[in-house]
Amino acid sequence: MDCTQYKSHYSAFSKLPLPREVCDSREWSDWMDHFHDCHACFDWTLAQRIAERGFDSRDFPCVHIGNQITFACPDHPDPADCPDILISYFSRFDEYSIAVRDGGTSAVAIRYCPWCGVALPESKRNRWFDELAALGYTDFHADDVPPQYWTDAWYKNGK
Ligand SMILES: [Zn+2]
Ligand SMILES: [Zn+2]
Ligand SMILES: [Zn+2]
Repeated sequence: MDCTQYKSHYSAFSKLPLPREVCDSREWSDWMDHFHDCHACFDWTLAQRIAERGFDSRDFPCVHIGNQITFACPDHPDPADCPDILISYFSRFDEYSIAVRDGGTSAVAIRYCPWCGVALPESKRNRWFDELAALGYTDFHADDVPPQYWTDAWYKNGK
C-alpha cells in the first residue's frame, strides 16, 4: 500500500466501530501497517484528527503536540487523569510539559517535541513572575492580580 492508497482509505477505515468484514480484510491490515511504518502518513493522520476535533493543526508547533493538546478523552473529563494524554499545555506560561503521574498536578516542562524534536515556545513562566513583581506584586495568588495574568492574554495582547 502506498501513501495515496493509504489516504484514500482513510475515511472508510478510520470510522469506529469498524464492520467485522473490514477488520478481517487484508486491505485493512495493510493499511494499519502503513500507518505504523510511514512517518508522513502518521503525521497526516494526526492532522486529520486535529481537524476533526475542530482545531487547525497549524495553530500548534507540530501535529504531535496538537494531537495531544486537542485530545479530549471520553473516559477522563479531567485530562490529568488520562494515561493517554502525555503532554499538557499551560497557556498562562505558554509552557508545554509532560505530566507527572503522581496523583498531583506536577509536570516537567519540555522545550522540544518528544516525537519530532521541533522547538517549542520558550516558557514565559519567569517573565510572568518578573512582570507581576515589576507591577509591585509580592503575593502572586492575590485576588487583585490583573485577570489577564490568569490566561495567555497578558503576553498575547501586549502590555
Ligand atoms: Zn505513507
Ligand atoms: Zn482517558
Ligand atoms: Zn512533533
